[in-house]
Amino acid sequence: ETIGDNLERTVARFGDRLALVDVQSGRRWTYAELDAAVDEVAKGLVAAGLERGDRVGIWSPSCPEWTIVQYATAKAGVVLVNINPAYRAHELEYVVKQSGMRMVVSAVSYKTSMYQQMLESIRHDCPDLEQVAYLGEESWERLPASGAAVSDEDLDARMAQLSADDPINIQYTSGTTGFPKGATLSHHNILNNGYFVGEMIRYTEQDVVCIPVPFYHCFGMVMGNLACTSHGAAMVIPAPTFDPVATLEAVSQEGCTSLYGVPTMFIAELGLADFDRYDLSTLRTGIMAGSPCPVEVMKKVIDRMNMAEVAINYGMTETSPVSTSTRTEDDLRRRTETVGRVMPHLEVKIVDPATGLTVPRGQTGELCTRGYSVMLGYWGQPDKTAEAIDAGRWMHTGDLATMDEDGYCAIVGRIKDMVIRGGENVYPREIEEFLYTHPDIADVQVIGVPDKKFGEELMAWIIMREGATALTVDGVREFCTGQLAHYKIPRYVHITDSFPMTVTGKIRKVEMRDRAGELID
Ligand code: ATP
Ligand code: MG
Repeated sequence: ETIGDNLERTVARFGDRLALVDVQSGRRWTYAELDAAVDEVAKGLVAAGLERGDRVGIWSPSCPEWTIVQYATAKAGVVLVNINPAYRAHELEYVVKQSGMRMVVSAVSYKTSMYQQMLESIRHDCPDLEQVAYLGEESWERLPASGAAVSDEDLDARMAQLSADDPINIQYTSGTTGFPKGATLSHHNILNNGYFVGEMIRYTEQDVVCIPVPFYHCFGMVMGNLACTSHGAAMVIPAPTFDPVATLEAVSQEGCTSLYGVPTMFIAELGLADFDRYDLSTLRTGIMAGSPCPVEVMKKVIDRMNMAEVAINYGMTETSPVSTSTRTEDDLRRRTETVGRVMPHLEVKIVDPATGLTVPRGQTGELCTRGYSVMLGYWGQPDKTAEAIDAGRWMHTGDLATMDEDGYCAIVGRIKDMVIRGGENVYPREIEEFLYTHPDIADVQVIGVPDKKFGEELMAWIIMREGATALTVDGVREFCTGQLAHYKIPRYVHITDSFPMTVTGKIRKVEMRDRAGELID
């Protein structure tokens, strides 16, 4: 089954039910209406001369048109390439060229802005890029030669040619650890993952799902859109980009049953001065993913936001994305200390990166995943694909993890973030969690910096609580002495107001490492 076939099946079952709400503009679509809008754009893509397998980029904040284009490209068999809205000209040029895009679809709100200028500035260097289209509320600027010339039968004929194993989406990884890579995903990859994510939190056509996470990322388009459409649930877009007030307002107004976010988004929502003003009584579930969730935050999400069944998901762009999930019946400990168990129909193992052999339960190693969710490969980078996916089809995630007797996995950190100090492996997360217990520390990140004597030394970046006096290196070391092994005690401390972040809210330790040198001397 392709994504287009799946949508049509949902339309046949739930055609008159709510599919999509754009809270800011008040626009709403039933599934039948959504499908009609999708068909019109899909025909426009065919009319514009795009063939099965051609690449079309989308560069836009979250909006209903994003969703419509997502399903229209799937029906036309065109590979959708998600472009991060935070990209600037040289990153844009990189992905346009790297994926060989023939068209970029952008938001109307981008039309008269710097986004349009950036697109124009790269065009002469991107010969494959023939067309730029703008889709938006007021001037839903028709795709060239629009749908009229293409009949329903023509579109059906196109859909009939497609295979579920065709590439349908290229998602560039977040770039947390380096340059983004284009994970190439099939209908089969992402449709199944969306379906099983929805099944895990028991979605039905009664659910109304608030999606404040961006659509250009797999969290929004797979765990959000595809999980909803494959179960007939409604998708609610609170705002084009994350805004805690708009998010809670959308939940109250639409009676949402589910809410998504990375931990920092939930922290922002819980921190609103008028938090108690919002009616969150309809919430039942939701998904938290992307980075580890502090226990305190999880407790509040369950108690104060009513999300008794909230799930923690772990995954990566390359695996469609979700590999493990907590179950609705899991206790607080499992929902904070672990990322749950393997998803149905997938396999997970923890291996010693040096030998490739599975480690005993409880020991740390690299988490590997196998099954329907593993990407086709990195677009145009067969060598990088071969490094990530081995001959047995196992995806090597680059994440360090443990697995307990019951199969629950815990993420220890990234291999790239692991510090080797004087021959000892140090996992920054352990030190971060310890320092986090200091009453004056609001947030902390630990990195390794090059050192002549020990190979690497530890450096803590600390954000102080409001009103607290900045800690010194000696203060930090004193706090750790007797609590942490000597080789885990940071040698350097940097007090700061913020950490370098990706637009998805992940901390960019690469950038911290780059800047560490000048901070030390
Ligand atoms: P890049 O691969 O370009 O460096 P990235 O790995 O951050 O960027 P994504 O694919 O968006 O890009 O993120 C996947 C990574 O996020 C995982 O490999 C893992 O390190 C982290 N992650 C995802 N979910 C969780 C979670 N629930 N708990 C802890 N870490 C998580
Ligand atoms: Mg990655």
